[in-house]
Amino acid sequence: MSADTGANAGAGGRDALAVDTDVCVVGAGPAGLVLALLLLKSGVRVAVVERARAHQREFRGEIVQPGAMALLDRLGVLAGARARGCHRHSRFRLVERDRVLLDIDYGALPAPYDHLLSIPQAHLLDELLLHCEKFEGFRYLDGRRVGALLRDGERISGVTADGPGGPVSVRARCVVGADGRFSKVRRLAGIGAGREESFDLDVLWFKLDAAPRPAGAGEPERDVRVFRSGGSPVLVYDSWPDRIQVGWTLPHKGYQEVVAQGLDHVKRELAAAAPPYARLIEEQIRSPRDLTLLDVFSGRAERWAADGLVLIGDAAHTHSPIGAQGINLAIQDAVVLHPVLVDAVRSGDTGAAALGEFEQRRAPDIAAMMRIQRVQSKAMLSIGAFATKVRPRLARVFRHTPVYRKVLRAIAYGNPAVRIAEDRFTS
Ligand SMILES: Cc1cc2nc3c(=O)[nH]c(=O)nc-3n(C[C@H](O)[C@H](O)[C@H](O)COP(=O)(O)OP(=O)(O)OC[C@H]3O[C@@H](n4cnc5c(N)ncnc54)[C@H](O)[C@@H]3O)c2cc1C
Repeated sequence: MSADTGANAGAGGRDALAVDTDVCVVGAGPAGLVLALLLLKSGVRVAVVERARAHQREFRGEIVQPGAMALLDRLGVLAGARARGCHRHSRFRLVERDRVLLDIDYGALPAPYDHLLSIPQAHLLDELLLHCEKFEGFRYLDGRRVGALLRDGERISGVTADGPGGPVSVRARCVVGADGRFSKVRRLAGIGAGREESFDLDVLWFKLDAAPRPAGAGEPERDVRVFRSGGSPVLVYDSWPDRIQVGWTLPHKGYQEVVAQGLDHVKRELAAAAPPYARLIEEQIRSPRDLTLLDVFSGRAERWAADGLVLIGDAAHTHSPIGAQGINLAIQDAVVLHPVLVDAVRSGDTGAAALGEFEQRRAPDIAAMMRIQRVQSKAMLSIGAFATKVRPRLARVFRHTPVYRKVLRAIAYGNPAVRIAEDRFTS
């Protein structure tokens, strides 16, 4: 366990727990917890500050790509996370009315990571946490929202946080902002989010209970699908244990117009967009509270490092949910940052130049993925007579080109050269 150095006066007059550690990670998402585990395995003390008390993440990404699976496996957490419950999806399909336009077969990739995994993020995060908790140098400070950065002069030297878990003041050689796309740490450090409205769409996100499977029926072959039935495209996949995750894409800010016409109108539009689920939509969507509207945007923070601070995952670069890349990229960020941070802590230099090495190594991968996602979004989600006419022809041609295999590899692995720096491990 990291050292507690007594108590300071906290917000509202309550005494704040004072923690002194090597690295303070803000945010226990995939980026934050994978980094914490890598650092702990390298003998670095870590405190993780997380605003939530439990990993209840109903509208969070659940589809994990092969690249992230391989890294999690190497870390020894994949089997335990899978055992908590998940579904295997063998293909990604783009379906226009009854025609399959694009059929990306993950089975073409080498086993054992020859599929997509749909796994509740809670399963992944709880397993990561379990592994972190085995280390003496780990401190988990949940139920606390970071509200301020501590500074020694210009240098960031910790955070203060408060919430149901109680006020806390954490001093560290380095603070890692892994607190997601609306990163408070990024804002407090005065770093611009670099938000871009390049996707021009929002997503209405909800789950349906699947029809019960007949007794004795084996596991079906599952896929992740984007339907196009005339209206706005809809993303659908089986979510563990027996639910269907639906994401209805709408023109940016278009939901207000649809919702102004009442819930029945929304349900009719939804049913028309995803005909196979019309009955479930009619029966199960009972209130606007059953639907969550997500603002889709991408962005790249102006810079990812400052003296005593580094940003990773969605806090550094945010992606559209298209192509299910966020978790893969967040985990790979942690893996790329790990040796940079271990070396910085060991040498005592956690200045912007030393930590900036992470941005130099990682920025080209992120830029490449953003380019792919822009093309994917145009190819799959654009609406309009021209796009609808051209798309089937393009999809047919694309399937038979070498570019198809290249894109599949990029989507599945991100940068396949990213490897865990096990030479830094001390246990
Ligand atoms: C609708 C939707 C669907 C998606 N689907 C997929 C998908 O299928 N596959 C995929 O790979 N990606 C998907 N993504 C993206 C994916 O969820 C993210 O890219 C990924 O979770 C980023 O990981 P992270 O660790 O950087 O941040 P996050 O997962 O956002 O974690 C940040 C953590 O920081 C905590 N936090 C925030 N502020 C504070 C604070 N002030 N103090 C303390 N703690 C704080 C949060 O509670 C959270 O636990 C989807 C995203 C959306 C919006």
